Amino acid sequence: MGLFHREKRDCESCGQTFASYDEMVNHAREAHKQHIVKCSECGKLFLHEKDRLHHVREENERKTDVRRHKFSKK
Ligand SMILES: [Zn+2]
Ligand SMILES: [Zn+2]
Repeated sequence: MGLFHREKRDCESCGQTFASYDEMVNHAREAHKQHIVKCSECGKLFLHEKDRLHHVREENERKTDVRRHKFSKK
């Protein structure tokens, strides 16, 4: 999952690159005591609130799937 998802995988504090976003978050939490936010839906961890919000939005989009309401304005 998330193979085509371009996530940031390098640590903001020391620049180290990780195999996955989750590994990077775990590193930031343990090595730098960075504040982590958690998705209440699936438990995924994020470095920033904006990252979590972006993820939640994607999750919701996936839920509503193809039922996307598009209003064309003229
Ligand atoms: Zn680091
Ligand atoms: Zn989630």
